[in-house]
Amino acid sequence: MDLFSKFDTDGGYFGPFRLRKDKYFTRPVLDPLPGPQMFFEGKPVIQWSINNYMGLAENEEIKAIAVEAVKTYGTSAPMGSRMMTGNTERHQELERRLADFMEKEAAIVFNSGFLGVTGTIQALVGPDDIVLMDKMSHASMIDGTLLSRSNYRVFKHNNMDNLEYHLKSINDNGRKGGVLIITEGVFGMEGDLGDLPAICDLKDKYNARLFVDDAHGFGVMGDGGQGTAFHFGVQDRIDVLFGTFSKAFAAVGGVTAASRKLVDWIQFNARTQIFTKSLPMVYIEVIMKTLELIREDREGRRLKMWQNAARLKSGLRELGYTVGNSQAPITPVYVPAGDIPTGESIVRGLRDQGIFITGLIHPVVPRGILLFRMIPTASHTDEQIQATLDAFKKVRDDLNLKLDPPAILRRKP
Ligand code: PMP
Repeated sequence: MDLFSKFDTDGGYFGPFRLRKDKYFTRPVLDPLPGPQMFFEGKPVIQWSINNYMGLAENEEIKAIAVEAVKTYGTSAPMGSRMMTGNTERHQELERRLADFMEKEAAIVFNSGFLGVTGTIQALVGPDDIVLMDKMSHASMIDGTLLSRSNYRVFKHNNMDNLEYHLKSINDNGRKGGVLIITEGVFGMEGDLGDLPAICDLKDKYNARLFVDDAHGFGVMGDGGQGTAFHFGVQDRIDVLFGTFSKAFAAVGGVTAASRKLVDWIQFNARTQIFTKSLPMVYIEVIMKTLELIREDREGRRLKMWQNAARLKSGLRELGYTVGNSQAPITPVYVPAGDIPTGESIVRGLRDQGIFITGLIHPVVPRGILLFRMIPTASHTDEQIQATLDAFKKVRDDLNLKLDPPAILRRKP
């Protein structure tokens, strides 16, 4: 069989959409300026699908810093990998400030969240070790584990009995190497929180280590936006904390924070940093400034984000929609019957009214789930939230939606 014969089939991720050359549900073309108000197919839409939690993507102060940085350094500097010619005092200064923010001894910056997660996991575990990952772990955590060539087991989503069962059985079977538990702080699809205090207890009991990918909690959770570990007050007990700059920070890049020795090890062993060009100065300067804005939060953005999230969630609930158990701003709206045609009709019905939402299906969420993930941000206005709720009401009535929670949510984990 020819390797390329699959191109004419509906196989692969999102195959049916690829085959029908869809540009509406997958890879829609949006104008590049992010914010609560954007353009889609030439028409203005209220945007609910970007992770611009703190509303910093539109920030003029940050844009000015970027312009200055490009004037000084151009777009690529420094050239080369951190290991060879791409290290600068500013990269190191940013890492010191991030370590301070995350209350760890040291930090290391990567070019993206995906590269940071994969590189960190790959560097920490090897063929004699075992990774124990939450069932809902992000693709980057799965890929990092596969790259590490370690053994792995998957525990039921946020289920501590099941995690303990695996930890115990690994120890009882006379393990050869170490064990790394990997989970998320805020789960990126449904907004529920990893049970970090309980996981810390278990990792201590069974002599394991813990990596927390807090991509969606970084800049968002905890009083100072330091993340989900701080929300629970367990930052000291987590061995490896991870954050990304592509969401609340509205930039690009990722950071691992941990003990000095661990970060030293990562610097010399993470393939996704050693073998790639370092993050350009323009982003180092941008993230440095964004960190300051997030830390100080002089404009009260975080509170506004939470208020907007509360309004959106309660409004949707009042209309009868199922928004799940999110404890973060992320607002998942479950498609009643869980079927794709209904989901497509809802998306069309909302977009026709100028509300841009995105439907998520496998492999982004597990099979059988179809949800819209809405991201309330600090810059959404009350009017935009109200217009969105009105549109959801109209779609509910026009499509005569039966709004029972989908079967998958009624099952026990
Ligand atoms: N981890 C999680 C949990 C994520 O949600 C994402 C982004 N979808 C990433 C890692 C990758 O981050 P980035 O977009 O910065 O590469």
